[in-house]
Amino acid sequence: MERTFVMVKPNGVERGLVGEIVARFERRGFRLAGLKALRIDRALAERHYAEHAGKPFFESLVSFITSGPVVAMVWEGREAVRVARTMMGVTDSADAAPGTIRGDFSLSKEENVVHGSDSPDSAAREIALFFAGDELL
Ligand code: UDP
Ligand code: MG
Repeated sequence: MERTFVMVKPNGVERGLVGEIVARFERRGFRLAGLKALRIDRALAERHYAEHAGKPFFESLVSFITSGPVVAMVWEGREAVRVARTMMGVTDSADAAPGTIRGDFSLSKEENVVHGSDSPDSAAREIALFFAGDELL
C-alpha cells in the first residue's frame, strides 16, 4: 500500500486544526502509520524543502516552518500521495477548491496550513527525514 507524508504547518497547529485534518484522512479511509508533534529546526527545514533552495520565497518559507510546532504524519492507503494532494488543494489557498483543506481553512499562498508529498519518491524521502523505522506502524 502506498504511503504519503503529511504535515500540519505551524499556523494549522496554532489555530487548532490538527484534529480536523487528522479526521479528514481517517474518514477518507487512510490508515495512520505514524504521527508526532515536533519543532523543525533550520537544518531539517532546509533538507525537507531542498528543492526550493535559492527561490525567492525560500527564506520566508524556512522561517515560517520553523516558527512553531508542527504535526508530522504518515498516511497509508490506495494512491495515498495523489489522493492526499487532492484533499489538500492547490498551493495558493486562494485558488484551492472549497472542500479541500487549504480551500476550507486558508487564504494564504505561503501559510497554507498543510504539507503533502508530491510523488511516491518524495514521500519516501520525507518519511525517512521525519520518522525512524521503529516509529512507523
Ligand atoms: N510557498 C511560498 N511562496 C510561493 C510558493 C510556495 O511561500 O510562491 C511555500 C508554501 O508554503 C508551499 C511551500 O512553499 O506550500 C512549498 O511550495 P510547493 O511549490 O512545493 O507547494 P506545495 O507542494 O506545498 O503545494
Ligand atoms: Mg511541494
